[in-house]
Amino acid sequence: MKIYLAKARGFCMGVERSISMAEETRAKLTGEITILNEIVHNNSVVRELEEKGIGRTTDLDGVDQGTLIISAHGVSPNVIKRAREKGLNVVDSTCPLVTVLHKAADYFIKRDFTVIVFGNENHDEMKGVKGHNPEKVICLKKIDSLEDLPEIEGRVAFISQSTQSMEAFDRAARLVEAKYQEVRIKNTICDATRQRQTSILDLAPRMDLMIVVGSPTSANSQRLAQISQKSGTPAYLIDNAAEIKSWWLDEVEDLGITAGASTPDWVVMDVVESIRTMALSGGAATVEVFDEKYEG
Ligand code: SF4
Repeated sequence: MKIYLAKARGFCMGVERSISMAEETRAKLTGEITILNEIVHNNSVVRELEEKGIGRTTDLDGVDQGTLIISAHGVSPNVIKRAREKGLNVVDSTCPLVTVLHKAADYFIKRDFTVIVFGNENHDEMKGVKGHNPEKVICLKKIDSLEDLPEIEGRVAFISQSTQSMEAFDRAARLVEAKYQEVRIKNTICDATRQRQTSILDLAPRMDLMIVVGSPTSANSQRLAQISQKSGTPAYLIDNAAEIKSWWLDEVEDLGITAGASTPDWVVMDVVESIRTMALSGGAATVEVFDEKYEG
């Protein structure tokens, strides 16, 4: 069996930055430290920070003292304002590329556009963007829901969740342009997402099977599995090595592995080693691993 590791995979700049900020805050301060929501959407990372004594909540009302860390996905400006009014020391680890999305939404709202954001309204990032002005920001979860969008008087801006599919965004943008009279399009998909999607588009069609390592809550990991499936290569999204089933490897000669932007490299390497062991005990003569990772 041959295992190919995708060129662009795993931690992105924004995720590394948020985790470092949380760890540095813990190292510097002695009081209570709480992360609002998940620092990044990966169960291993969340557990590691909890073990280092950093708490977590989804409800600002439950935090009355100490330091509040804003996760990589950001929150609406109102949440930060409320936290400061409560006297909390706020450490904002919002990814700068999520901030680009907030600034775009704010720019268009101030100029009286209705903003349609292509993404899942239950995701933390989208809740933050919608919080700028819930009346003027509409989420479009999938292209099929386009016909459910309301009639809109005046100008429309179309932007995207940072981890959206590039191909789906372009398709949705054309349809939004056709539906409304005056539409401005700003693609706010981040570079790390583009690189990981380009990389799986290059790798998946040559593989018998793709494994995407990432938590089920990670939007960009889900997207990678969908892209592989669309390209015709079956894909499984797994949180960690314990979720691999040995029968997945039956008849697989070329296996591709990639990882979402919030997945630590050690989790990926654990998966590689488990697959190596399973393949050898299942009868594979050899297991070769090819890794051309570049940082990004
Ligand atoms: S995936 Fe993109 S937007 Fe999200 S944290 Fe990474 S760089 Fe930032």
